[in-house]
Order: sequence, then C-alpha cells, then structure tokens
Amino acid sequence: MRTLEEAALEASTCTLCRLANGRTQVVYGVGDPHADLMFIGEGPGFHEDRQGQPFVGAAGQLLNRMLGEIGLSRDDVYIANTVKCRPPNNRDPLPDELDACSPWLREQIRLIDPHVVVTLGNFATRYVLQRQVSITRVRGQRFVIGGRTVIPTFHPAAILHGGGERSPQMQALRSDFEQVRAALAEIPEPVEEQLGLF
Ligand code: URA
Repeated sequence: MRTLEEAALEASTCTLCRLANGRTQVVYGVGDPHADLMFIGEGPGFHEDRQGQPFVGAAGQLLNRMLGEIGLSRDDVYIANTVKCRPPNNRDPLPDELDACSPWLREQIRLIDPHVVVTLGNFATRYVLQRQVSITRVRGQRFVIGGRTVIPTFHPAAILHGGGERSPQMQALRSDFEQVRAALAEIPEPVEEQLGLF
C-alpha cells in the first residue's frame, strides 16, 4: 500500500474529469494521515480552490470551532470532500465527476483507516450512504459502512446561511458532535505492544 502523501501527489495532476479544467489546484485533503476521525464535505469552494485546503472559508471556521468544543483541532482529524476539484459556481458535483473522483476518496479512506467518518450535509451523506436520505432525518445517527461508524450531520454552511448561532440546527450540530465524541471514546485502546516475530 502506498502512503497518503504518494496518493496526494498523483492526485495533484489528475485530469479524470472536466473539473480539472477550471481548478486552480486539486484539494486532496488535510490533517492527520492516521486520524481516527475523518470528515467528508461536498467539494472545494472559492477559498479552498485558491488555498489548496478543504474548509478554509467561513464554514471551515465553524467546523474548527465545533472540533474545539469536543477537544479536538484540525491537526487531530482528517478533512476531505466528495470531489477534489472546485465545481464551477459551487454547483453540486455531477454523477460522472463523482464516479471519476471516487477512487481517490475510497483509497484515501483505506489509507487513513478512520474509525469514525462524519458526512457534512445532504450531498456528502447521500453519496457516502448511497441512499437518498434526508439529512434532517438521519443526522446524529450511526451507520456502519465497511466496519466504520458513519455519523451524518448538517453542513456548517447550512447553519451559517440558515438559523445561525441560536437556531435548532446549531443545537443539532452540537449534539451530533457530542455523538462523535462518544463514538471516538468507544474505540478500544490498543493492548500493550510486545516485541515478537513481526
Ligand atoms: N464546503 C465543502 O463542502 N467543502 C469545502 O471544502 C468547503 C466548503
């Protein structure tokens, strides 16, 4: 198996779909390459495309704050998107773009090997669950996919454009992050390592 760094290097010159034409750069992902917790958003926006990192705009600030509330920082987790290049005018990625990009995301998940995956918003949630669910119905619930716990929650941008700080959506986001904290706490501690044949 190659390293995440090697995969990111190859992805940086990807031309598998039309999104390559409009991008400033590929936004592969950021964070701890062995994180227990991984976030999946929809796709890079204007600032992400310019800076080469996911969730660096206003939505990213809120994500950082929510992480802080459960005692984590961006360096403790891994953050990626369903597609790695900015769709024009921030439209939703198209089915053939998702298909072209999915080997990158699937390999990324295999290499990072997170216990818990949080999908941010309707789009990423439907894509990861492969079901036309509604985020308002499934948020905060746990799904097990490929042995990993998937917890959908609202996209931070939806909070910013919607009700804001005192809204029921913000309360829901907080409560979902508490779910994430609880799911992480359930990961068994590794037993003490011994020297041996391997
Ligand atoms: N919204 C997303 O879904 N992803 C980003 O990287 C930034 C904003």
